[in-house]
Amino acid sequence: MSPIITIDGPTGSGKSTVSRLLAKRLNYPYLDTGAMYRVVGLAIQRAGIGLKNEKEIAKICNSLDIKFIHEGDTNKIYMGNDDVTEAIREPVIDLMASNVSALDTVRKVMVKLQRKIGSKGLLVAEGRDMGTVVFPEAKHKFYLDASSDVRVKRRFQERQKKGESISREKVKEYLIKRDYQDMNRRLSPLKPAKDAKIIDTTKLNPDQVVEKIIKEMAKDNN
Ligand code: C5P
Repeated sequence: MSPIITIDGPTGSGKSTVSRLLAKRLNYPYLDTGAMYRVVGLAIQRAGIGLKNEKEIAKICNSLDIKFIHEGDTNKIYMGNDDVTEAIREPVIDLMASNVSALDTVRKVMVKLQRKIGSKGLLVAEGRDMGTVVFPEAKHKFYLDASSDVRVKRRFQERQKKGESISREKVKEYLIKRDYQDMNRRLSPLKPAKDAKIIDTTKLNPDQVVEKIIKEMAKDNN
């Protein structure tokens, strides 16, 4: 079994914050696979290519140079020499990432890259299909979830903090649409792995979730 920790879940379940905290606490590298699909979405959007043009999309995916640069507490993401950390978090890229992630060509290239990163050993891998498809042999698997009200609230507060003027209703509409797409696509739909532990984060703060995960990992190790 590989020592990888997988953390999957829908939008606003808290998986990014928790994965980052957990990786820091355990001193493991952290892999944000959602960011990878976001970079692909941004590249395809910038190139002005339609989603049906699989040939061009494959070309872009195969030539993409995605770099994660960790500097202290900040994680920067580069597409070639371009710092796209902020650009990939734009609301328009939320849906674009979800759209491109349903394409076979895109998933093949990304999964290969993710497994290559995982082959180095310890890792906290966060996404939608980490436990089900990318690292099925991982020793510790978690699936985070929360009530849709709380997930919308978290996402809305995140947007407000960034100074974006978007209504709560719009945030809700986009969140429902994206989760529906992610859960109902043919390839690697979002769902808990059979052997994943499901954690409801509705009433928990990120530190409490990390504590729970660490306790569960200790049980796995016994
Ligand atoms: O996690 P994040 O919101 O950044 O992910 C953006 C999108 O990338 C998701 O909505 C999902 O469609 C896609 N994704 C995926 N598989 C992953 C991670 C993300 O399909 N492992």
